[in-house]
Amino acid sequence: MHATQYKFSRHHQSIFPGEVNQASSDVMLLIDELHLADKAESEEQKQELGLLIERLLQVWILNCFEHSENPLGYSTYFMSSFMSHSCHPNVVWHYKNDDLFVLRARRKVKAGDEICCSYLAEEALMESAQARRHCLEESKHFLCTCERYVL
Ligand SMILES: [Zn+2]
Repeated sequence: MHATQYKFSRHHQSIFPGEVNQASSDVMLLIDELHLADKAESEEQKQELGLLIERLLQVWILNCFEHSENPLGYSTYFMSSFMSHSCHPNVVWHYKNDDLFVLRARRKVKAGDEICCSYLAEEALMESAQARRHCLEESKHFLCTCERYVL
């Protein structure tokens, strides 16, 4: 495996815990600090709220874009979060002036075409299909079946 993939995987393994069945201690602390469960009628209700927040955090993590490496930062943009992944993406994104999300076409896009970006780093797009699939399974929890696997 290429070094870039290790870097990508290492980052995301730590923040993608997989299936969430209970709230983390950090989320429970957040609930206490923000008094979110002050009106909960039982400890069970408080735990249910914690689980809901934990799952919402996971949704956010799965839909965010890596913003910076040091410190590690992620951002979420409403429309961009709806873009599907492709290993042959028709758009590429980057940040301009540190916080402006810029989306550019990589090739001609016709009206009605689905806009697809890569959830992988540009360097990872040069890796084998097996390596790309492995990265996406680890980081985004899906099996890529984009056009590059069908060709
Ligand atoms: Zn793919």
